[in-house]
Amino acid sequence: METNMTCVLCKTGHPEPGSATVTLERNSTVVVFKDVPADVCPNCGEYYLSAIVTERICKQAEEAVKRNAEVEVLRYAA
Ligand SMILES: [Zn+2]
Repeated sequence: METNMTCVLCKTGHPEPGSATVTLERNSTVVVFKDVPADVCPNCGEYYLSAIVTERICKQAEEAVKRNAEVEVLRYAA
């Protein structure tokens, strides 16, 4: 991922490779993903996910919705 980009939120920081905790909500299901690889802004903490990572966690979130889970905490599996 482009590492020289400027954070769109604070317009100051330059996101660096790291990991983030990502929370997704679908209907009444909340899915929390830990250790998701992301570019994280050192200034404000905003994170940026690649398209591949986003697709992967969205699929896992859909499965949690199908199980009618209310809250699920998952560790990102590459
Ligand atoms: Zn920022």
